[in-house]
Amino acid sequence: MIIQLKQDISDAQKDSLIAEVNQIGYKITEVKTQLGDYLVGIGKKDFDIRRIGKKEGIEDIHIVSDEYKLVSKKWKVKPTSIDLGDGIYIKDGDMAVIAGPCSIESEEQIRKVIAHLKENNIKMMRGGVFKPRSSPYAFRGLGIDGLKLWYDLAQEAGIKIVTEVMQVSQIEEMYPYVDIYQVGARNTQNFNLLDELGKVDKAVMIKRGISGTIEELLQSAEYVFSGGNEKLILCERGIRTYERASRNTLDLNAVPILKAKSHLPVIVDPSHGIGIRAYVPQMALSGVMSGADGIIYETHEIPEKAYSDGQQTLDFAQSSLLAEQIRKTFALRKTFALL
Ligand code: PEP
Ligand code: MN
Repeated sequence: MIIQLKQDISDAQKDSLIAEVNQIGYKITEVKTQLGDYLVGIGKKDFDIRRIGKKEGIEDIHIVSDEYKLVSKKWKVKPTSIDLGDGIYIKDGDMAVIAGPCSIESEEQIRKVIAHLKENNIKMMRGGVFKPRSSPYAFRGLGIDGLKLWYDLAQEAGIKIVTEVMQVSQIEEMYPYVDIYQVGARNTQNFNLLDELGKVDKAVMIKRGISGTIEELLQSAEYVFSGGNEKLILCERGIRTYERASRNTLDLNAVPILKAKSHLPVIVDPSHGIGIRAYVPQMALSGVMSGADGIIYETHEIPEKAYSDGQQTLDFAQSSLLAEQIRKTFALRKTFALL
């Protein structure tokens, strides 16, 4: 059960409400976000909703049977829109394009990518400064100094920054320089990290875990929301299956399912999803047709020289073509009543 509280509910009214819900046998968690105050009630007993509904200080009350509650569409039918400022959004009915290298490598590289994005009217740039690498000997990112450098250049160009946070201690130092914190596939169930991101007033994009189910992705998002942060984006980036012909199996089934289950925006990462440069564009466009609200992909001036993930990274010519085709495909999708 989710009880949306009125802004002006008094402490006495809230205490009385909590006591009533406890009496029914439901355990209450109080949640305060940027947008509202909620009581989430967990329990199984049947009860007459009027018993609570007539109490004072309630805006609305919803019975949500899903394991996840706050991210469920069962109570919030209106899709969540992520407002990044300067007229840049990630939202239902729109097509966000986020592009950039796997890793931030140098000032020169940042400048080149930004110039490419500007030429193609792409307003959000991805890139890792803290890199989760399978080998400890691989390039692990420029760290916070790289992020500061990137921030200065991105600010100047009016471009928003999407970058991975790997641990709790990085959240605060990164805060002034990020627009969207990315939770990587290896950290989707790092519940301490998710709890702490709940305390932050900035958007969080959660990638699906390497072997994570759709339900687990939604539960991870629930952690952040219940911690106090409603600014959430879900990202399908492929899962590990028995198939070895591609790096991962991009599960586009997840897109319509997530959109039906949750009010949060859903984006698709075809680069990690298939892991093969030549096939990234078709999977990106399939992602658009699957109903995604955005596409995030990797691009680099010379992919062969990229410090990481070069094999799945588009060069600038391929990226320009893809950005244009994403927009065309989205325009086509909008003409189909079903999607
Ligand atoms: C990345 O975005 O470069 C990345 C490491 O992604 P994932 O966590 O999906 O593997
Ligand atoms: Mn990568």
